[in-house]
Amino acid sequence: MKQWIDKLRKERTLRQEEFRQLLTGCDAETLRYINRQAREVSLLHFGNKIYIRGLIEVSNCCRNNCYYCGIRKGNPAIERYRLTGESILDCCKQGYDLGFRTFVLQGGEDPALTDDRIEKTVSAIRRNYPDCAITLSLGEKPRDVYERFFRAGANRYLLRHETHNEQHYQRLHPAEMSGKRRLQCLQDLKDIGYQTGTGIMVGSPGQTVEHIIEDILFIERLRPEMIGIGPFLPHYDTPFAEYPGGTVEQTLLLLSIFRLMHPSALIPATTALATLTPDGRERGILAGANVVMPNLSPREERKKYELYNDKASLGAESAEGLAVLQKQLNAIGYEISTERGDFNTIEL
Ligand code: SF4
Repeated sequence: MKQWIDKLRKERTLRQEEFRQLLTGCDAETLRYINRQAREVSLLHFGNKIYIRGLIEVSNCCRNNCYYCGIRKGNPAIERYRLTGESILDCCKQGYDLGFRTFVLQGGEDPALTDDRIEKTVSAIRRNYPDCAITLSLGEKPRDVYERFFRAGANRYLLRHETHNEQHYQRLHPAEMSGKRRLQCLQDLKDIGYQTGTGIMVGSPGQTVEHIIEDILFIERLRPEMIGIGPFLPHYDTPFAEYPGGTVEQTLLLLSIFRLMHPSALIPATTALATLTPDGRERGILAGANVVMPNLSPREERKKYELYNDKASLGAESAEGLAVLQKQLNAIGYEISTERGDFNTIEL
């Protein structure tokens, strides 16, 4: 197995059969080996610095019904909220004072959070914080809307495709949603000039090794600047409540595969991984991740943005817990960087 890992590090790709062997035959020793290779690549590109992004969950209302998501329209059991523009700016102020230089505005596809409102908020953040990056994660929009947000000052956009395989996409989403449309959105974002992020859930219901290979090859073609890999975690109020979650091992394996294929990509150690296991954040970093996204949302709303069960939002997952995070990172030889941390194409 090691020969495929060495080849992946050197050539940044494998043949499909080689990926299949790596994905199906990875034992504990192989996982340690690939995690170490990926960590070395990450250290070469970013040193021991971990970029922080201030996550602001702007709305938990959504018009969609993705089967895996706790804030889907069809879940009557959650209390809905939507932050005002003013409240979002307050979060930015608090984040800026703490040292954040990237704000991530994330939310469901909320019809009441109109394009005008978003555009105005982005413009205001841009005016107040000209030295900060603005990342949006607000779902699918027409191309001209993405262009408006970009002109208003947004720099980055996160839109996970979740799975490239159309049948699998249909398994995870209701019929009115389309994998093709999502892929078109990603292409539009790239063309407009956003630093674009995509990614998958690991271990989602119905996911096969062939699907994962398809995702790896799609991401290789798209060359996104950011890659988000987190385990599927079930939420009790969704149709997937009874399904098992993805595993730490498979998530760490994929994280390392993506690091070896995309040495300069920005790859977060996700909150989902930190929720799955208490040392998930550290293990993600030691497997090649170089970004963490502490939560800057108002404390009273955090619990309502529950995409999956028991989502971590306090302690080192929170903006006010930066000292805890710093300590955890120091313990594994890393430290927080308060730089903006844009994608850098320098190839080593
Ligand atoms: S995954 Fe996103 S689009 Fe789907 S229901 Fe949840 S918030 Fe809405």
